[in-house]
Amino acid sequence: MNKKTVKDIDLQGKRVLMRVDFNVPMDKGVVTDDKRIRAALPTIQYVLEQGASLIVMSHLGRPKGVGFEAEFSLKSASDVLAKLLNKPVKIASDCIGTEVESLSKNLKSGEVLMLENVRFHKEEEKNDPEFAKKLAALGEIYVNDAFGSAHRAHASTEGVAKYLPAISGFLMQQELEYLSKATMNPERPYVAILGGAKISDKIAVIENLLTKCDTLIIGGGMANTFLAAKGFNMAESLVEQTAIDTAKKIIANSGSKLLLPVDGVVGLKADPQAQPKIFDANKVPSGGSMMDIGPRSIESFSNVLKNAKLVVWNGPMGVFEDPRYSEGTFAIAKLLATCGATTVIGGGDSASAVKKAGVAKQMSHVSTGGGASLEFLEGKILPGVAALMDK
Ligand code: AMP
Repeated sequence: MNKKTVKDIDLQGKRVLMRVDFNVPMDKGVVTDDKRIRAALPTIQYVLEQGASLIVMSHLGRPKGVGFEAEFSLKSASDVLAKLLNKPVKIASDCIGTEVESLSKNLKSGEVLMLENVRFHKEEEKNDPEFAKKLAALGEIYVNDAFGSAHRAHASTEGVAKYLPAISGFLMQQELEYLSKATMNPERPYVAILGGAKISDKIAVIENLLTKCDTLIIGGGMANTFLAAKGFNMAESLVEQTAIDTAKKIIANSGSKLLLPVDGVVGLKADPQAQPKIFDANKVPSGGSMMDIGPRSIESFSNVLKNAKLVVWNGPMGVFEDPRYSEGTFAIAKLLATCGATTVIGGGDSASAVKKAGVAKQMSHVSTGGGASLEFLEGKILPGVAALMDK
C-alpha cells in the first residue's frame, strides 16, 4: 500500500489541512485519555518543523449535525494539543465559513488552528461535495492521519481529497504498512487469531484471512458457534444459531487451517457466583456456559504460535472483562509478546487486552482503528485510503 506521505511533498510555507482522529473519551467536556492526540503528534510536529502552518480537523462523538453543541466541542482537545506541543493552538468557532477561512489564511508558518467538530454539519457524514469544497478552501495540502475513520467516506476523510493534493501522515502510513503485511505477501508461517462475541459480523474477515494465512485460530464466543457446528452440545454458551450453517461451510472448506479450542472455562448461568470449572469442548455440562478457552487450548494455540513469523490478532479469547474468564486472552497476549513473530493487533478489545496484560509495547503494531482494521482485514479498500495519492 504505497501512498504518498508528508515526506514526499514540500510543505515549506504551505497551509496544511490535516484530518486527525481526536475522537477522545471526555468527561464533562474534559479529555480523559489523550492517547489519540499523542498518536498524531509525530505528523503534527513534522509538518510544523517543515515550516508549514497547520489546520487540524476531527470529529468527536455523535452530535446531531445541526450546529454547535458544547458537549461535543473540540475545545478541550485543542487545549491538550497546545500543552503537548508547548505552543498556542487557536480553536475556531466552526469548521467552515468566512471567519474560519480568514483565520486559516492569516496563519503564519508554525502556527496551529483547530477547527470545531466537523460533525456539527450533517453534510460531513453525507460526504456533501459543497461542504468538502469549503473544508478544502482552508488549506493547500490535505494530510490524513485518521486511520480510525478511514473506513468512512465522509467529507473530511474522503470528499476533501478530491480538491487538494492528498497524502498520508505517519500514523496512517504505519497502520497501512503493518495491516498490509496481513493481506499482501505475508511472512510465513502466518497465524491469524480471531475472537470476540459473534461470527456474524466477522464472516468476511474469516473468509478473507483463510485465503491468506497458514493457520486461523478461533476463540471466544465465536468459537462456540463453530463447536456447535461440529455437533457439540454447548449448553447455555453463547451460540449464534443463525450462523451455524455458515460455520459448517467454513469448517468444510478450511481443511486443516482452522484451529478451535479443545477445552474451556465453563461458568454457570444460573449461578453467576459459582466458581468456574474446566471442561473439554465436547463435554460442556447442562446449564454451563463456555466463557474462556481452557489450558489445553492455550497449549495447542501456543504450539502453533511459537513457530509463527507473522501473527494478526483481532478479538478476545473469552469474557476478559471478568477476571475469572480473562486468563485465555492474557495468555495469548503474553505468548505474542515472546514468540518473536511480527505481531499486529487489531483495535478495540484486542488493543485493550494487550494493554491490560502489560505487553502492548512488545507488539510490533497495535492498531488505533477497530472498525477500520477489521474492514482492512476483510480485504476492503478503505475510502479514506483510496483517496490518497499513490507514490
Ligand atoms: P466483539 O465486539 O465481537 O469483538 O466481542 C467482544 C466481546 O466478546 C467481549 O466483550 C467479550 O466479553 C465477549 N466474549 C468473548 N468470549 C465470549 C464468550 N465465550 N461468551 C460470551 N461472550 C464472549
